[in-house]
Amino acid sequence: MRNRVAIAWLLVSAILLCACSHRKRNVLAITHVTVIDATGAAPRGDMTVVVENNRIVLIAPANTLSFASNARVIDGTGKFLIPGFVDMHAHLTGAGEPDGSRNFILPLLVANGITSVRDMGGYLESLEPLRKEIREGKRVGPEIFFAGPYLDGNPPSFQPSLVVANAADAQKDVHELVQRGVDFIKVQSILGRDAYFAIAAECKREHIPFVGHVPDRVTAAEASDAGQRSIEHLTGVLRACSSHEKRLMREQFFVPRRKKTPQQSRARQLAWERELLRTQSAKFTAALLEEFVHNQTWQVPTLITLRNVAFPTPSQNFAKDTRTQFIPRQMLTGWQKERARELKISREDMALHEVGLQKSFEIVGKMNSTGVRLMAGTDTAAPFVFPGSSLHEELALLVQAGLTPMEALQSATRNPAEFLGKLEEQGTIEQGKFADLLVLDSNPLEDIRNTQKIRAVIVRGKLLDRAALDEMLGAVEKFAAAH
Ligand SMILES: [Zn+2]
Repeated sequence: MRNRVAIAWLLVSAILLCACSHRKRNVLAITHVTVIDATGAAPRGDMTVVVENNRIVLIAPANTLSFASNARVIDGTGKFLIPGFVDMHAHLTGAGEPDGSRNFILPLLVANGITSVRDMGGYLESLEPLRKEIREGKRVGPEIFFAGPYLDGNPPSFQPSLVVANAADAQKDVHELVQRGVDFIKVQSILGRDAYFAIAAECKREHIPFVGHVPDRVTAAEASDAGQRSIEHLTGVLRACSSHEKRLMREQFFVPRRKKTPQQSRARQLAWERELLRTQSAKFTAALLEEFVHNQTWQVPTLITLRNVAFPTPSQNFAKDTRTQFIPRQMLTGWQKERARELKISREDMALHEVGLQKSFEIVGKMNSTGVRLMAGTDTAAPFVFPGSSLHEELALLVQAGLTPMEALQSATRNPAEFLGKLEEQGTIEQGKFADLLVLDSNPLEDIRNTQKIRAVIVRGKLLDRAALDEMLGAVEKFAAAH
C-alpha cells in the first residue's frame, strides 16, 4: 500500500513538473471528492482524480497527493464524481439545421452532463461536420455516434429516410451508409418483412450493427433472432408479451372491405389496444425476455417518451415547466398544438394509456431482474422530451421501474460504453479513460434525482464550471426566444 502511495506521489510530481515545462499540458485535479466510478464498486470517499489533457491519469486517496499552484484544482469536498452520461436515443438534426443542433440541442446536452450521444436518425450532411468540429476541439459538444438516415418502408415515417422495398435496395443502402462511415443502421416501423430480413443479412455481411424499431410486420422475437442489437421504445414488445401475438398482428393489417368512418376506425383501434393489454401473459413475457438475454438484444425503453408521447395523459402538464424557455418558440408552439390534439380523447382512451404505461414499466422491471441489458435514451427532441434534462427524468423513471440507482447510473454510463464497444475508453471512472466527468452536489445513489444537481461538467478534459454551464443555458434561452 505504501509503495502504491509513493508511486502515486511520484506520478503526480511528474505530471506537475511536465505542467511546468510544457505550457500545453493541461492538468486538472478534483480533490477530496467521493468517486462513484460506475463499475458497480462502492463509492470511495476523499479521493483525488487527476486529469491531464483529455484523460484521467490518476485516481488516489486525497491525502497522498499535493499539488503545485499551476494545476487547476477543484475542491470536491462534499461532492460526488460520476462518469459523463450518454443519451442513447437522440435526433440532433430534428430541430432545423444547421442552427437546431448547434445552438439548441447540443448545448443543452452538455449543460446537463451528456458527454456522448447516439443519434438515432438524422441528416449526415449536418452530423458529419458536427462530429468533426467537436473532435477537433472547435466546438464544445458530446462525442457523437450516428446512424444517418432511417431505413424504412413506403411511405417512410420520418425524414431523412431511405425507402427499402427489396433485397437489392437493402444491399445498396447498407453498403453506401457503411462507406459513409455510419456507426450503425437504423431500422424503422414500416419496413416489410423481406426488406427487414435482407437488411439484417446485409448488416451481418458488412459487420455493422443494426438497431431501432421492431417493424410492425416483424415480431420482437424474430428481430432478436435476426440479430437486431437494440430495440427502441419497447417496439413490438407489448405485442410479443400477449398470448395472442399472431392474431393481434393479423388484425393490425386487416383491411376492411368497406371504408370505415374515422369514428369506426378509432373504435377498432381502441378495441385492438384493449385486447393487447387484456392478453398480456406472464408466460409469454418470460419467454421473450429469455430470448433477449440469450441473443444479447439490448433495450432502450425511452420511458420518458412512452410517458410524454406514446401514452399521454393530462397528469403530465407542461404549462408551468420552466424548461420551455429553452425550446425555440416555433417548435414549442408545435409541441403544444400536438399535445392539445393528443389529449382530445375519451376517458376510456386515457385509462388505456395509463394501463399501457404501467405495463411498460412492469416489463422494464422484469427485463432488469431477468438480466436483459438496458440503456437510457430519451428520443430527444420529441414533443416535451426536453434535450438534456429528459435523460435525468429517464434515470428516475428507470428507478421507478425497479432499477437500483446504481443500475440506472450504469444504464447511461457503463452500459452504453460496452454496447458501443468503447468500454476501454469511456463509461467508467478509471485511469487511462477519457475525462468525461460530472461533479454533483449530492449523492445520486441516495436519490437518483441528485444527478440533476450538477456543479461542473468535464467533457474530454475540458472543464465547464457552474458559471460556464449557466452561460451556455443563457445563450440557448436567447436563441429560443428569437426562433
Ligand atoms: Zn427516435
